[in-house]
Amino acid sequence: MNKLSNSLAQADIATSLHPYTNARRHEEKGPLVISRGKGIHVYDEHGKEYIEALAGLWSVAVGFDEPRLVEAAHKQMQALPYYHSFAHKAHEPSIRLAEKLVEMTPQGLDRVFFTSSGSEANDTVVKMAWYMNNALGRPEKKKFLARIKGYHGITVASGSLTGLPYNHMDFDLPAIPVHHLTCPHHYRFGHEGESEAEFTQRLLAEAEEVILREGPETIAGFIGEPLMAAGGVMPPPAGYWKGIEALCRKHDILLIADEVINGFGRLGSSFGAVHYGFTPDIMVLSKQLTSSYMPLAAVVFSEKVYDAIADNTGRIGTFGHGFTASGHPVATAVGLENLKIIEERDLMGNATRMGARLQEGLRQYADHPLVGEVRGAGLIAGLELVADKTSKRAFDPVGKVGLAAFEIGHEEGMIIRNVGDTLALCPPLIVTEGDIDEIVARMGRILDRTQDHVSKEGLV
Ligand code: PMP
Repeated sequence: MNKLSNSLAQADIATSLHPYTNARRHEEKGPLVISRGKGIHVYDEHGKEYIEALAGLWSVAVGFDEPRLVEAAHKQMQALPYYHSFAHKAHEPSIRLAEKLVEMTPQGLDRVFFTSSGSEANDTVVKMAWYMNNALGRPEKKKFLARIKGYHGITVASGSLTGLPYNHMDFDLPAIPVHHLTCPHHYRFGHEGESEAEFTQRLLAEAEEVILREGPETIAGFIGEPLMAAGGVMPPPAGYWKGIEALCRKHDILLIADEVINGFGRLGSSFGAVHYGFTPDIMVLSKQLTSSYMPLAAVVFSEKVYDAIADNTGRIGTFGHGFTASGHPVATAVGLENLKIIEERDLMGNATRMGARLQEGLRQYADHPLVGEVRGAGLIAGLELVADKTSKRAFDPVGKVGLAAFEIGHEEGMIIRNVGDTLALCPPLIVTEGDIDEIVARMGRILDRTQDHVSKEGLV
């Protein structure tokens, strides 16, 4: 992929430990050094062009060269490059962005707390819930419900909420009280012969059974991505979220929508919760919030949660939580401009239209011999590769064929992501009809070449 004689690559190998990378393999393989971006494309240091069909890390809504975001950062850097919001301080960009998020998010979400990453935001959610329940005099109400294959980040609390073995194993996680419920993905977790409706009912019965067994008075919150993304692009079965919402209301459990990937039009609706018709108490936003041009995340929450926290004047009385960069002026200025662009150019509407084209285009591969399931909503999609279509038998070991497809993707000039053997697509919201058709065509070539590879290596 790159030339190890290249000094940048050598310097990288000599000095870095990469996130989500096999360190020893990286020493042999070296980095793919990306040098610039334009629209939905990025270019490596040798000038090779790639369609960034995962929008970086599911995050660059406006494309890789938006001058208005550069200008917004530049202007804010000149005016006030840094200030904080501890101890009654404030600055205009974070005030204006908070106001904008309250306006854009569903009714009832009226308060905002900023962090720099999705992980920090989810740690903040955990601590807010704990703090709130201590304030309300119910210190035992501290546990969380999450789902197997859910992704909520990698810090100690958010990593505990995540339901993926490799985020737990060898890290001594989970480290907070969390129960991972069955993953709401019918294709993989449905029983033999179980309809989708029966599957939903089973999952809701399981959730209530766990709530009653643990005691509702011990459960603080239920967290989930409306459409599970990083764990393998898995839309929920019909009726799932309405049922979970009802359980949370019945048992006084905070309902937390992790919209870090779903938010701002990704599913073809403004937010994932809107897409699936439920109202969370807390929404977690990041990634497309700034198109990831600057690190920023936001916890948006209800007045009920705010009041419980604000009224906790009994002991110390100060909400002792916050980051040096909470509401960073340059990040929030860029976020505000990014959201203006999303609105002015109707990028959410574009996601609805282009999303329909992407989903339809990819459905043609449902008949491909390698493809077990094509799934997704709006501009996020997953194609699960299987060894046997009829029995849904997975490749052994899982991930080897997915990795081969990912690498073939690079050769075909398209950056995708393999989650095990599921190939994920999540292109920038600015995609055009022509871009979608090209992405679908390249995906076809990736599948065919992967099929050849599987046959040649005898991997079935
Ligand atoms: N929640 C979700 C749903 C995510 O997809 C991610 C990141 N992929 C996170 C939280 C964590 O965000 P970060 O990497 O910014 O910590």
